[in-house]
Amino acid sequence: MAEVKSDIEIARAANKKPILEIGAKLGIPPEDLLPYGHDKAKIGAEFISRQKDGKDGRLILVTAINPTPAGEGKTTTTVGLGDGLNRIGKKAIVCIREASLGPCFGVKGGAAGGGYAQVVPMEDINLHFTGDFHAITSAHNLLSALIDNHIYWGNEQNIDIRRIAWRRVMDMNDRALRHIVGPLGGVANGYPRETGFDITVASEVMAILCLATDLKDLETRLGNIIIAYRRDRTPVFARDIKADGAMTVLLKDAMQPNLVQTLENNPAFVHGGPFANIAHGCNSVVATTTALKLADYVVTEAGFGADLGAEKFFDIKCRKAGLKPDVAVVVATARAMKMNGGVKKEDLGQENVDAVRKGCANLGRHVQNVKKFGVPVVVAINHFTLDTQAEIEAIKSFVATLGAEAILCRHWAEGSAGIEDLARKVVQLAENGRSQFSPLYPDDMSLFHKIETIAKDIYHAGEVIADKSVRDQLHAWEAQGYRHLPICMAKTQYSFSTDPNLRGAPTGHTVPIREVRLSAGAGFIVVITGEIMTMPGLPRAPSSEKIFLNDEGYIEGLF
Ligand code: ADP
Ligand code: MG
Repeated sequence: MAEVKSDIEIARAANKKPILEIGAKLGIPPEDLLPYGHDKAKIGAEFISRQKDGKDGRLILVTAINPTPAGEGKTTTTVGLGDGLNRIGKKAIVCIREASLGPCFGVKGGAAGGGYAQVVPMEDINLHFTGDFHAITSAHNLLSALIDNHIYWGNEQNIDIRRIAWRRVMDMNDRALRHIVGPLGGVANGYPRETGFDITVASEVMAILCLATDLKDLETRLGNIIIAYRRDRTPVFARDIKADGAMTVLLKDAMQPNLVQTLENNPAFVHGGPFANIAHGCNSVVATTTALKLADYVVTEAGFGADLGAEKFFDIKCRKAGLKPDVAVVVATARAMKMNGGVKKEDLGQENVDAVRKGCANLGRHVQNVKKFGVPVVVAINHFTLDTQAEIEAIKSFVATLGAEAILCRHWAEGSAGIEDLARKVVQLAENGRSQFSPLYPDDMSLFHKIETIAKDIYHAGEVIADKSVRDQLHAWEAQGYRHLPICMAKTQYSFSTDPNLRGAPTGHTVPIREVRLSAGAGFIVVITGEIMTMPGLPRAPSSEKIFLNDEGYIEGLF
């Protein structure tokens, strides 16, 4: 067997085309592209608004089983399927999220796909890219500075300084900043209060940028951010301290989607990157809706497993942006089935068909859940080198019992040539026009009932429990006009339950709600069920220790 190249080696050897050529494939005139160097460009806002009345292509969601440390490859499959669709003659665009700097230097590694299914330039995409996250960080922190400044100059809005909800952000894993005390230094500097930092991808500004339909909508949503409460518990909004205009100015360029290419020179939009726990975990609405105007097929990814990612994609992003997905692809691997079936990570190299069969319960639950949204499903088995034929057959015959098909895909090793079968199946399902998409719950259902619906229908939980304070808070928001908002569940990604170690397809478990938060600008209610980290830490041996510039000036060790 040929030696296996690392993701970065493959990416570096890519035969990239000038970005204007990639734009031309989509019919974007050069004057409507804002190039950032030779291989990245933003798509001009005016061009985007000119596409408004065009016909939409088909929307394909790539989602997955509950993640395991074995790795599932959603982004890799999204990119591979985009290339596969182009290979069989369809005009397809891939829409994925931008990467956060934090995980790059921590443990997670890249976010640009893997093997022969990647978007490039991968170093740029994983590092500063076109500066969007820096712009979001600046806009977020401008608001933080304005809040402290408002208090310093007399606090006309009567902000209760014990109830400031807005923290600061930076795009780095830094546990030392989770809880801080500031502003210190006496009268000239304000007065001390507890606050802290979150990672930029957890900022509500990130979620807003990804859900806003245009700059006007962005400004309205920024103005709707609740920054603090008064002593009488009435909310203070960002617009009350006139922050929305300047924040929008800082985000003007960041709102325009970024165009890059796959290893096979097909177009990819990489734009926005909200957390998948306290936010909805999808790329921007602007990127997706623009791509739909320009292509026959748009392939996009939702973070985490389908219980969180697909549910939020459907119930938050699609509901709010009026998107109608045509097909959902659920990514599964034989390795992850084995882990779900009880095999330890170190033993994954050995064939274990029984464990695969046992672990398939997790896959089955996800397939059936996605069908509840009225969207046709196909399973993509992302092939790993050590998978055996018997293991693959076990997954295929299990999926057949659900009335769906599982298709083996070798895009990681072979690029588009390895994923033609899946591409054809997706086209067949999409062109049948069988999708009858509808969200899981209606807008006017009570907030608690919405939470119960998700917990029972998607997680198969027995009950949802919440303290009176949580229920009272939900009622108060309903009375204030927030009843119509969708729910954004923050739950462990590893299990259908709130216990990360409970793999497979558990039923009858209890979902305890710890806390609820209103993201009034983004337009959802965050429901927290367990420990949710909004500022990750670095591991004992962070991957940054292995990252350096080699003698030729190339980045080594990024992945
Ligand atoms: P996700 O989007 O589900 O988090 P990614 O697509 O980013 O997953 O893949 C995670 C990692 O797994 C990447 O480093 C990628 O190169 C690797 N990977 C994905 N598919 C395969 C495969 N079939 N064989 C080997 N490694 C793979
Ligand atoms: Mg991914």
